[in-house]
Amino acid sequence: MISFNSLMPVEIIFDKNCVLKNKEKFNGFKKLFIVSDKSSAILSGALNDIMSIVKDTKAEFYIFDNIQENPLLSVCYEGGKAACDFGADLIIGIGGGSPLDAAKVIAFFAANPDRTPEDLFNLPYENPSLPIFAIPTTAGTGSEANPYAIMTLDGQDLKKTFTYIKSYAQTAFLDPKYTLSLPYNVTVSTALDALCHCIESYLSVKSTPFSIAYASLGIKSVYHNLEKLIDLKDKPISEIDYSVREELLLGSLCGGIAINTTGTCFPHPLGYNITLINGLPHGKACALFIGEFLNIHETAAKNLDMPELNKNLNEMYAAFDTPIEKAKETIKILTDYHEKFDDETLKFYVSKVKTAKNFTNSYKKILTDDEMFEIYKKCVGK
Ligand code: NAP
Ligand code: ZN
Repeated sequence: MISFNSLMPVEIIFDKNCVLKNKEKFNGFKKLFIVSDKSSAILSGALNDIMSIVKDTKAEFYIFDNIQENPLLSVCYEGGKAACDFGADLIIGIGGGSPLDAAKVIAFFAANPDRTPEDLFNLPYENPSLPIFAIPTTAGTGSEANPYAIMTLDGQDLKKTFTYIKSYAQTAFLDPKYTLSLPYNVTVSTALDALCHCIESYLSVKSTPFSIAYASLGIKSVYHNLEKLIDLKDKPISEIDYSVREELLLGSLCGGIAINTTGTCFPHPLGYNITLINGLPHGKACALFIGEFLNIHETAAKNLDMPELNKNLNEMYAAFDTPIEKAKETIKILTDYHEKFDDETLKFYVSKVKTAKNFTNSYKKILTDDEMFEIYKKCVGK
């Protein structure tokens, strides 16, 4: 019996020059608060497109470009206050997952200036939030299509997810041309992130036929392009074709829609430590654990009586259109991370992420501290 319930309230526009082709979407907004990081809005050309619309609509605008990778909650809180003081009526997130996630939190605080950062993860009821337009300039997180905002807690090397029904973008504008300026390493890391979202979502106990359809299309769109990226390592980024950029952006969107239903699984929280403490970008940090994630599911499908898992695993592997051991090797080559950690460090890492909610999305439901340690040990242990 098929039964599921899926909320996807985002208007998704995917097209070259889609911002300019749909400028009427900006009509009626008078005070635009633009959330970005230092260079992506400019390098991608997205800010330029918005500025040309502003010229026509005569809207006032404020550029808040203080967002850094793995955005700090305190900075987003400040952004919310600035947006409130400005009297913003629209928040526009431009950039990778960091500015897009930040835009969701800023939209919340702009509409709720009396709320504190501590309130964010403990909201007793629905508060309003400002409307959001999301313009991704990386092809990885799919943040434009889900309500998650992953915040770094100040001074704690810890990430926490703000999941809020009012955080869905009103409109997401996906233009592959905005990703043409992405450096090679960011292209690879973000593409790995998109692939991880699709894999983790596909095997999640929360997956539905609807989320699986997106996860499957995401894998088909991303994986064969990852193989191409191996050969483009030392070439100018102009050699990454527009068609590759297009498919990576589509795959990223599909991953974002898939995890909208399922959330992510253990590669994500385990990866957070390697990002926040060791500086490895988010996508590569999650990809470090994806091979072991697949191995664990293969073993479970073989040894436990789990026909549904077995079926999902086989169908997912077919979407790669290559032997899965080769795919695991491709992921390893592109992750290209060789740092190894001693047991003490790994125990500390376990202590930091053991309460993450993502673990409940896997068939195991809970990972014990020992199991987490073992996974860390196999993937990044000395
Ligand atoms: P990011 O942190 O947003 O950006 C990474 C780097 O890419 C930045 O240095 C940025 O440069 C640069 N960049 C972005 N677009 C560019 C462009 N078009 N041209 C040149 N440079 C560009 O990376 P991300 O991987 O997209 O996002 C990671 C964040 O998203 C993490 O905080 C992660 O936890 C979160 N995340 C959210 C979700 C979700 O579903 N909401 C899912 C996965 C991950 P500048 O800083 O110099 O501008
Ligand atoms: Zn991710």
